[in-house]
Amino acid sequence: MRSFSPGKCEEGRTYMFFCDFDGTVTREDVIDRVLEEFADPMWQEIEQAWVNGEMGSRDCLAMQTKLIKARKQDLLDFVGSIEIDETFIDFARYCKTKTIEIVILSDGIDLFIKSILNRYGLKDIQVFSNGFARTNGHFEMIFPHFRKDCASRSGMCKCRIMEEFSSPGRVNILVGDGRSDFCIATRADLTFAKSALLDFCRAEKIPHIAHSEFGDVVDWLRNQRGQRVVLRDKELLPVVV
Ligand SMILES: [Mg+2]
Ligand SMILES: [Zn+2]
Repeated sequence: MRSFSPGKCEEGRTYMFFCDFDGTVTREDVIDRVLEEFADPMWQEIEQAWVNGEMGSRDCLAMQTKLIKARKQDLLDFVGSIEIDETFIDFARYCKTKTIEIVILSDGIDLFIKSILNRYGLKDIQVFSNGFARTNGHFEMIFPHFRKDCASRSGMCKCRIMEEFSSPGRVNILVGDGRSDFCIATRADLTFAKSALLDFCRAEKIPHIAHSEFGDVVDWLRNQRGQRVVLRDKELLPVVV
């Protein structure tokens, strides 16, 4: 009888999860909520320009955050009311026991994401997202993971982070919901998708599984023993967790 190490697929392959944050881990978009509460209403015009495809999310975010009028602590207190999909906690716990790595890739703001994760005791999860600083009396975005040639014109290039983590034995799995995940979904081995990302995966024939919460991902992981899954390279890969 063959034995398998925790977190490994057959043939020594390891799962790695790349999770979007807004609308995926949280139930709503954190920055939108902050803007609604604290920004000059002009933020909505900028949002509309982004929706119309007139600008990328990087330029959109940079302009919108300058419209926020609040103290940093007020923002943090407000973010304290944002709830997450509670099944994400079970997912994180499950992955920890199976030594499956999780990272969060977000086009949101690191300060908010970390504050929310801390509140749920999830502060050891690695986060890659945009920075946020106060200069000359207004807030400003910092884009440490921006890439000029990123197809999604986002503040951060999620594909780049996935490339940095990639190794031949690793199965890269994306969990996401929206436009900031389109670019990385075309490169992940498998995508758990909902909302706009689900429509995108269907239209582009991207290997995906529809999900509504992280509990579905946990169910999928639990059912992988001995089953086979079709991945991007069309290879039938036996996967065991
Ligand atoms: Mg999202
Ligand atoms: Zn990219």
